[in-house]
Amino acid sequence: MIKKSVYEHYKALKNKEYSSLELTNEYLKEIGKKDEELGAYITVTSDIARSAAEEFDKGKCRKTILSGIPMNIKDNICTKGVKTTCGSRMLEDFIPPYDAFVVEKLKSEGAVLLGKTNMDEFAMGSTCENSAFKITKNPVDSSRVPGGSSGGGAAAVAKNEAAYALGSETGGSVRQPASFCGLVGMKPTYGSVSRYGLVAYASSLDQIGPITKTVADNAIVMNAIVGHDKRDSTSVLRKYDDFTVGIKKGVKGLKIGLPKEFFDGAISDDVKSAVMNAAKEYEKMGAELIDVSFPSLNLAPSTYYTITCAEASSNLARYDGIRFGHRAEKYNSIDELYKKSRGEGFGQEVKKRIMAGTMVLSAGYHNEYYKKALTIKSKITGDFKKLFGECQIILAPVSPTVAYKIGGEKEPLRDYFGDIYTVSVNLAGVPAISIPCGTGEDGMPVGMQLIGPHFSESLLYRAAFAYENMGKAVDIYDFSI
Ligand code: GLN
Repeated sequence: MIKKSVYEHYKALKNKEYSSLELTNEYLKEIGKKDEELGAYITVTSDIARSAAEEFDKGKCRKTILSGIPMNIKDNICTKGVKTTCGSRMLEDFIPPYDAFVVEKLKSEGAVLLGKTNMDEFAMGSTCENSAFKITKNPVDSSRVPGGSSGGGAAAVAKNEAAYALGSETGGSVRQPASFCGLVGMKPTYGSVSRYGLVAYASSLDQIGPITKTVADNAIVMNAIVGHDKRDSTSVLRKYDDFTVGIKKGVKGLKIGLPKEFFDGAISDDVKSAVMNAAKEYEKMGAELIDVSFPSLNLAPSTYYTITCAEASSNLARYDGIRFGHRAEKYNSIDELYKKSRGEGFGQEVKKRIMAGTMVLSAGYHNEYYKKALTIKSKITGDFKKLFGECQIILAPVSPTVAYKIGGEKEPLRDYFGDIYTVSVNLAGVPAISIPCGTGEDGMPVGMQLIGPHFSESLLYRAAFAYENMGKAVDIYDFSI
């Protein structure tokens, strides 16, 4: 039963094929059996999961599609009374006194929390190898990474250790692990999901998103977490769509842009052919393919790293051993307390980015680096705007290659350039969905992404659903509760 999608669980629970407690116990059993090897979870919350499941079975909680279904949450999203480490020694013992907005939302739906998942420290990375605690393995090939930074959640869903996961994106951390693990990942429009309770990396880009087995599941989870929240000053007040409505409408007449820069240079042959084949399938389904251009693509990684390091250096200043975070045991002065606490609490990659960020914000370099990056960010946003005048959505690869082999710290720049196809989406604040489109080298999953204008999630789900369900009888989907 743990292989089922969220939607299938919903139907099975409704028809009383099994209880939520039975289902929860199956997932916990699987975690017990497999997770030592897989390394997806930092904390498993068996008791919390079982009692939420029992509540559901007693008919105590609200019945929505997600009620009674077990899931997991990335360890940078605050969960009241449950350790939230951000994959860092700095927050190894941090137990938040409050729930993040998205956790409040899922709890109110009666969701069952199985645990908190592994991630690159403070969401900085693309492989999960930057976690202070463990390396998560790729679910298809354990000699490879699951992607990152939300790699723990993705690996768990792919290995049936949860029905769905919540991850977070600053520059691809939901889409890229989804793509490396053969799953669906949504990076929502900036401002549509509240960041309240999401530990900040680069606040102007951070956004929470779902990782699921199917497109419909993803739309269902998005429905639950989207919405205005006055505790996040960048949360957008508007009427949000029901993302499952119209999902089966197909792509006839849809104008899909293929930006040539995404298919030159860095991309490997296996990824390129998988994505191009998907494009042809869209054409067969009646979509119109249009050649377009995205001239600022090559500037995206350096712009992204300049802005994120700057914001990280400021956001992470609070972890000083006094206000927040790990405190060194022995020190002789206040300066030494700061230095030792931060020196011991943060890992290599985080320190590197704090130093880079402090440099680009310093008086002598501010205009040359940080301000310049902001100018290019506007140019990237402008490129998207222009493109969305020529086509309705964009089809592109997610990552230049399939999942990397574990041990990538020998080539740190590979990970930075590996973000080339994802980060411009975050810089512009637009939504994008990553969906599987076949396999590449050694049978590894390949993902493609569909990118749309701000608040076009419904259209993205519709287009993604059309590809995922090509030729299948999709009328099994009935979202009425
Ligand atoms: N790989 C990118 C980075 O290291 C993206 C991370 C993210 O989206 N959180 O910053």
